[in-house]
Amino acid sequence: MAKKRRKLNIIGLLLIVLLVALCFVLIGMFLNKQGIVSLPSSKYEVMLDAGHDLEHPGYETSIKENDYTNAIVSRLYTKLSEHPDIKVSLTHESEENLSIEKRIERIDRENPDVVISIHAGYDPSTQIHRTRIITQLPTNEEHEKSLAYANLVKDAFTNEVEPIEVGYYYYVPTHNNMESLTFISSEDTEAKEYETMELLREDKTPIILVEGFNINNPEDVAKWTSEEGYEKMVDLYYQAILNMLEDSKQ
Ligand SMILES: [Zn+2]
Repeated sequence: MAKKRRKLNIIGLLLIVLLVALCFVLIGMFLNKQGIVSLPSSKYEVMLDAGHDLEHPGYETSIKENDYTNAIVSRLYTKLSEHPDIKVSLTHESEENLSIEKRIERIDRENPDVVISIHAGYDPSTQIHRTRIITQLPTNEEHEKSLAYANLVKDAFTNEVEPIEVGYYYYVPTHNNMESLTFISSEDTEAKEYETMELLREDKTPIILVEGFNINNPEDVAKWTSEEGYEKMVDLYYQAILNMLEDSKQ
């Protein structure tokens, strides 16, 4: 009798342990779904940032930069969602006007492996072709990773666009008390006292910013904002992210 009761006690205890464990799992899943906590994931985590929103639509020529970035981000998001080893998230929805500060809070909370901010670039010349990949500054803790990611993007884009420039943006003061956003090549590693763009000041997660083409070049606009152009650009980003995934396994 005593033996039987002990057996029942053990089964009861096991059931309680199992129930408590199940509760923890369910609560964890709920909080994760609400974005309150991030459960560790074995997948490679990529966060896409559509560089603009309705409030800050970016450069505007014959097209709005915001329309281009949303077109790329939504297609790329769908494509990446289908990859079994990749978890993809967004800094903000296309209609959501979220400040850079709030986006950085979201990045900190999600803690992805990499954040890719998607833009078009602008050059005053309508003749210039150019793709730029911008990293966190040499003084930023994530600089090394950011530069390595930038070079993986460059590898994927090579042969499809040129020239490709990898480097930094600095706000350099001008004589009339203004600031000019100035590009410096990544080969120049000398620390400068100037600030960079707000998103790239984040120092807990590697971030890169990619300007796919010159939005002021009508030839490039025609090429990259056609349905075929969108697909091609998404393929280039996708290949770049596969390079990152491969690199993470080494
Ligand atoms: Zn932009």
